[in-house]
Amino acid sequence: MRYVFGIDVGGTTTKIGLFQDDKLIKKYQIRSNTEEKGKYVLGDITNKIKEVLKEEKISLKDIEGFGFGVPGPVVKNKVIRCANLGWENIQLDKEFKRLIGEDVYVKVGNDATIAAVGEYNKMGLDKSIVFITLGTGVGGGVISNGIWFEGATGANGEIGHINIDKNGPLCSCGKRGCLETYAGIRGWNRFAKELIEEGKLTTKLDINNLDPRFIHTLAKKGDEVGIEVVKRVADVLGYACANIAAIVNPDVFIIGGGISNAGWILIDNLQESFNKYAFYGVKGTTFELAKLGNDAGMYGCYYMIKK
Ligand SMILES: [Zn+2]
Repeated sequence: MRYVFGIDVGGTTTKIGLFQDDKLIKKYQIRSNTEEKGKYVLGDITNKIKEVLKEEKISLKDIEGFGFGVPGPVVKNKVIRCANLGWENIQLDKEFKRLIGEDVYVKVGNDATIAAVGEYNKMGLDKSIVFITLGTGVGGGVISNGIWFEGATGANGEIGHINIDKNGPLCSCGKRGCLETYAGIRGWNRFAKELIEEGKLTTKLDINNLDPRFIHTLAKKGDEVGIEVVKRVADVLGYACANIAAIVNPDVFIIGGGISNAGWILIDNLQESFNKYAFYGVKGTTFELAKLGNDAGMYGCYYMIKK
């Protein structure tokens, strides 16, 4: 029996998946203790894995590999920086081997890229995709003919930091006008606030309690502000995708992350916006919703070991 562990390390929680024969058979979630620059995170993960191995009566010899997805740039299994964990320059494979006490097979990748790998393989695709995850941040992963990339400094697919307006809102990266400030949670809420304050459109939204979930749920029910917010986000995102397409020329853009629950209303508007901005050479590129939700990272880690 061969097993794989897929470990999706997050700033708040870490998801650990145990895979057997292409199936996710067990899922665990532990808190990521980010105290003291995240020095406990990897130890806590290792302890949980040891506990699972004992419970499931699995020996380390039966593990094909351990895949890690982390929220930051990675080059050759070295985590360059994870701001929300406090990690900097950690050779994660070496550290994990030391903690687990065996020379096991370890692979590490950026979480959004790895989520792209998960979606790509789970959907059984054999083409080129750009995966975009919409949440607090906006991340992405590029897979070209089945191959994923890290980039020179591990920042491949950092779609959230494509510049939309050099004088735009301040981004978490310290620059102004990144895509993330329009298509991430803060962007949705800012558009809604502006429209409510303008007062030209009717809405059931509460200006003091804005969230993309409320915005797109109401948009689907015909709320004027909700619809306009979706259109504005889709306009910027579609514009960015038109530019990405001119470089990557993917078959499909796959939209995931918490905000992608907006569903068809976002996808339809995105396609329309993309068609407006994209040059003739990339016409025909389509948009699809991601399928794996919160499990995409664990699946990606699994496929990273298997492929
Ligand atoms: Zn940025």
